[in-house]
Amino acid sequence: MNAADSTYPVWGWSRDPAQAPTAAALDELGPLVAAQLGLPAQPAERPAALPELPADRVSSRLPATIRELASAEPIDRARHGLGRSYVDLIRGIRGDVEPVPDVVLRPRDESDVVAVLDWCTDAEVAVVPFGGGTSVVGGVRPDVGSGWHGTVSLDLERLAGVAEVDPVSRAARVLAGTAGPALEEALRPHGLTARFFPQSFERSTVGGWVATRAAGHFATRLTHVDDLVESVRAVTPAGMWESRRLPGSGAGPSPDRLLLGSEGTLGVVTETWLRVQQRPTVRWAATLGAPSFAMGCEAVRQIVQSGVLPATCRLIDARESATTATLDTGEAALVLGFESTSAPVEDSAAWALELCSDAGLRVVESGSRGSAGEAWRTSFVRAPYVREQLVLLGILVETFETAITWERLDEFVARVTERTEAALAAVCGGGRVTCRLTHVYPDGAAPYFTVMAPARRGSEVTQWKEVKAAASDAVIAGGGTITHHHAVGRDHAQWYAEQRPDAFAAALRAGKTAVDPRGVMNPGVLGLTAS
Ligand SMILES: Cc1cc2nc3c(=O)[nH]c(=O)nc-3n(C[C@H](O)[C@H](O)[C@H](O)COP(=O)(O)OP(=O)(O)OC[C@H]3O[C@@H](n4cnc5c(N)ncnc54)[C@H](O)[C@@H]3O)c2cc1C
Repeated sequence: MNAADSTYPVWGWSRDPAQAPTAAALDELGPLVAAQLGLPAQPAERPAALPELPADRVSSRLPATIRELASAEPIDRARHGLGRSYVDLIRGIRGDVEPVPDVVLRPRDESDVVAVLDWCTDAEVAVVPFGGGTSVVGGVRPDVGSGWHGTVSLDLERLAGVAEVDPVSRAARVLAGTAGPALEEALRPHGLTARFFPQSFERSTVGGWVATRAAGHFATRLTHVDDLVESVRAVTPAGMWESRRLPGSGAGPSPDRLLLGSEGTLGVVTETWLRVQQRPTVRWAATLGAPSFAMGCEAVRQIVQSGVLPATCRLIDARESATTATLDTGEAALVLGFESTSAPVEDSAAWALELCSDAGLRVVESGSRGSAGEAWRTSFVRAPYVREQLVLLGILVETFETAITWERLDEFVARVTERTEAALAAVCGGGRVTCRLTHVYPDGAAPYFTVMAPARRGSEVTQWKEVKAAASDAVIAGGGTITHHHAVGRDHAQWYAEQRPDAFAAALRAGKTAVDPRGVMNPGVLGLTAS
């Protein structure tokens, strides 16, 4: 298959077919899978060609003004029907891409978005907003249920760029389709940064971050995009929804709060004012070894409760530390970092090290980023590319994340790990579950689990569903949240329903009906369907 025929843009991390994993790279990785992960690699799978897609029910009915925005190219339709969960990768690689949207619409401006939502509401066509398509929870999968005369994927890529920078209040008006690298590029000449780096930074968009309440990689202080959002502007089927730019407000329930995390079910976020910052110039980093994950947790709790707030505070269990080449000593690794725009950070760093030492941790390296911290960083950035190679080699690989208060953390992590490992043993004949803390708060932390197991070719989707259900049941039974930052989408809706109060669910449904009376906006996501 040459690059032009490649389905890689449908399921791969890059849109560039030339970035698809090569046979040589897969040959090289195969033996390492057994050696480093203890899992049997299978012969590399050759992705299937794109099958013939179901007929497009929408394009021919579009009014001429909207037809200008449309693409019904098979590769475009297939790409917009898949996010980037393990199941999405498998389905894309196998050519099992249905359901696909009938058509992809790319609005040029907000008035196009208004026109599309008006037409779709009248025509009873479901609308799935699409940012970077990096959802790992089925958020962009057009599995909208029956009763629709078609589905449109509304790709915001043309609504991109930084429209305005306010250097006095230090905020920027950013269009929803702006991807992470373009945002930073536009802010750099102003000496500013959004300082928001989710692992999907390369591909995900500002609108997607707002819609899913994404979290960046910094561990404390401004963790979720919520903390950066000053105001939001969105188009709903019932009209515009725009909040005031305010540094804070106590005026009733916040309009921003309702849009944040609405995952395309209430309307289309078209732009947002984000709080931005001066670029940091002072940095300090250290890697420490902890005799056990629990001892590392105790050190981290002492640090965040003492009032110092490290930018990076990733506690990685021993197994994952070894795999990511962060620390290969059988210890859990704590990657710690402080940064500031100008103020010295040495005192905070020294204080954190003292607390770590009291908690029984040892310093492996400190003062600069160092090789262990650098190894962890490289592995973090490369992870999406490595993951797709592992999938091609027959490894089931997925992550899930949650949050829990400190007093329950140790038992919770043990129980979720145990239940997930038991499911892997039953469903895959074995596998590994590792854990790290990605975000830490004075009252708790966000454990992030990575699951890897030998997949049975042809049964991966069933296998994953069973493992996912066991893990999600354990998270909810243990008192955690079904997601700390990966969002709810369609895949977590069942557990989100268990977690949220019934009265809140009723209020959310009523709110949806008010702004989206026909229920065209992303039906099924958050468990919200047309009433
Ligand atoms: C390898 C990998 C790493 C990841 N790392 C992180 C991480 O570090 N932190 C994190 O929080 N998440 C992470 N994610 C999950 C994902 O990147 C986030 O949910 C991200 O915010 C999605 O942004 P997007 O632009 O890709 O949105 P999409 O995937 O396109 O859409 C996500 C949801 O938001 C809706 N939506 C998108 N744009 C809009 C809009 N403008 N208006 C209304 N609704 C909209 C969609 O309909 C969908 O329901 C990761 C995913 C992968 C695959």
